[in-house]
Amino acid sequence: MEITYHNTRIDYDEERKLGTILTLANGKIGVRGELELIPIDSCTLISGVYSDVPIFHRDIVCLPRTVGVYIIVDGTPLNLVDGGFELKRTLDIRTGVVKTKLTWSKGKSLIYESTRLVHKVRKNIIAVNSRIRPQGFQGEITLILPLEFASSNPLPPGNISIKHYRICKVKGCDDTIVTDIETLDDKYGITIALKSVTNTQCKRQIIRFPHSIGEALSFKVMGDNVYEVTKFISIVSSRDDPYYHEKALRELQSAIQLGWDNLYREHAEWWRNTWNKLNLHVDGDEGVERALCFNAFHLLQLGDEDSEYCMIPARGLHGVGYRGHIFWDADIYTLPFYTLVNPVIARKMLTYRYRLLKAARKMAKERGYRGAMYPWEAADVDYDVTPDKVPLDIKWEKWIKIWTGEEEQHITADIAYAVDFYYQYTLDDEFMEKYGLEIIFETARFWACRVEYDKDRGKYVIRRVTGPDEYHVHVDNNFYTNIMARWNLLLGVKYYNLALERNEWKKIVSKLGVSKREVETWCTIASKIYIPCSSDGLYEQFEGYSNLEDYTINSLECLGQECLPEIVRNRLEKTKIIKQADVVMAFHLLGDLFRKEDMLRNFNYYLPRTTHESSLSLSIYASVAARLGLTSLAYKLFRKAVNIDLQDIYGNTRDGIHVASAGGAWCSFLFGFLGLKVHNDNLTLDPKIPKHWRKVSINVVFRGELKNIKVE
Ligand code: BGC
Repeated sequence: MEITYHNTRIDYDEERKLGTILTLANGKIGVRGELELIPIDSCTLISGVYSDVPIFHRDIVCLPRTVGVYIIVDGTPLNLVDGGFELKRTLDIRTGVVKTKLTWSKGKSLIYESTRLVHKVRKNIIAVNSRIRPQGFQGEITLILPLEFASSNPLPPGNISIKHYRICKVKGCDDTIVTDIETLDDKYGITIALKSVTNTQCKRQIIRFPHSIGEALSFKVMGDNVYEVTKFISIVSSRDDPYYHEKALRELQSAIQLGWDNLYREHAEWWRNTWNKLNLHVDGDEGVERALCFNAFHLLQLGDEDSEYCMIPARGLHGVGYRGHIFWDADIYTLPFYTLVNPVIARKMLTYRYRLLKAARKMAKERGYRGAMYPWEAADVDYDVTPDKVPLDIKWEKWIKIWTGEEEQHITADIAYAVDFYYQYTLDDEFMEKYGLEIIFETARFWACRVEYDKDRGKYVIRRVTGPDEYHVHVDNNFYTNIMARWNLLLGVKYYNLALERNEWKKIVSKLGVSKREVETWCTIASKIYIPCSSDGLYEQFEGYSNLEDYTINSLECLGQECLPEIVRNRLEKTKIIKQADVVMAFHLLGDLFRKEDMLRNFNYYLPRTTHESSLSLSIYASVAARLGLTSLAYKLFRKAVNIDLQDIYGNTRDGIHVASAGGAWCSFLFGFLGLKVHNDNLTLDPKIPKHWRKVSINVVFRGELKNIKVE
């Protein structure tokens, strides 16, 4: 499976989009995919390596660019700005590499071909194998293979950029370049080591520029011989190893010893095995099969099976969008995919949430609640990294208050939901004992405190929140939040009862001091949580929603606020227009709790009022539409959702891959169209697929076994 791009000139906007689409990553390192042959602001990211930044608290650090390869022909750098070339780039998903072919002709001609990888097994290794074939001329070709220190993080608005690292030491000897850097907050040390290897005789030297250091390899060329060079790079950070410097040298050495061919083979084999295991086919719809594979590829690139825990930022390790922060996108949108395809990653994502439990307890306590309240945006630190306000102008004079950190509390229930989801599909008892139960009990505890008893109604209410729809803040009784809080409390009850029958689990109950009385209270609250409904039998997204000004839009034709007249755009909060699936999100996660006709009525009501301004929306509407048997509508929504990055539907793919929509598209496929679910301890199917999908097949992991699913 290949995704190919052809260019005959360099377009920097296009290049930034391709930078994301062609990103290679392995869960530990992410290397953006801009063309290696041109100097361009591009960077390397390491999972979990962040630094302090004003306003946004923590930034995933844009580290030096490692993959550049510059060509000099007879003393003149190859000029790609004025055309005169053909460029073909291919993302080869089957083997997990990016291939580049440049055919250049300006007086002299040459063909440059390269293969780039970020090793999926040797998680500290990046390599670029380049082959140059001069087209019948004699002269000198020099390859410059640099480590470039220009990369920095942007700080909006305007073009301020922040370089989050200092270079402590750069050493170039024995044809190896070793650089030690530190993040400016002193939290992380990183070593990058680089060496280029060739079998052909050449003149070598290390050259230093103000913002880079590199090796220069000069070849006397003639005829159309092939000159091959492999640039090996190793990166290790103190997040992974206190002796990161030594480890970087060791890893580099062993990659070089293995040699390019074997290194490539090992990497490609990992990917081939992964695809063979998944064995996805959508006969009759090549476009969908391709797009699903593309999304799966980028999701799988983000999993680090070897780390103790795994962080999946909203824009992956593909870009600095949302500053590398981790949202509910990870737990609700991507975790189901990982659970069914590579459960080790799902477990490690939840282990990350467990690591934040202490911080979540602190957050709850500071607000006067018991239990644990998870931060809306998380990073590598034990505090919430959601910005409190952001500047609107370059001088930082006008600001806008951001309420999500204080109010988007549904994330706490989302994480509990993810724990239960993972357990249902894996029966990973050890995980539950070590981490899962504690998360479920502590989050249930939080909701039991967070609700207020409304005497007049005889109901428990949750005041002042923001639901998934961020156009409406400070709302009372958001449908999604209340349903999820209730679910979270009931999970507490369910796992408490299960724990009573198991000695190991009982220990957790005693450790946390969960008592029978407390659990009875959870039960009572759950049974009396207020669920807003309007008089016409619709679920009300929040109390008072039905009194708002009504507008409708054709959200299938147009996405985001552009669909709206300016008058509506300026008063969104006073209207019924919503940003993304909210009531419908609850149907997607907890469809069994609702009657089909109620879901249908609500779906039809909310769809024409949703802008899908967030990329988290389309896939969920697609999934629910499929469940409701609205197959052709579901397919239309799904086609958009699954192509969000491939077709740059939101125009911001340059900032990184839309991780939630990639995972969401997989959710629509698995749970919407195929109707997968766990029923009475079995994995069951209820397919409602488009007619032209002649046959669908896929393997998923269920409770430790690989299950082959076929729908014809
Ligand atoms: C969405 C959130 C999402 C965040 C990060 C926002 O625009 O409204 O639901 O978590 O983006 O992707």
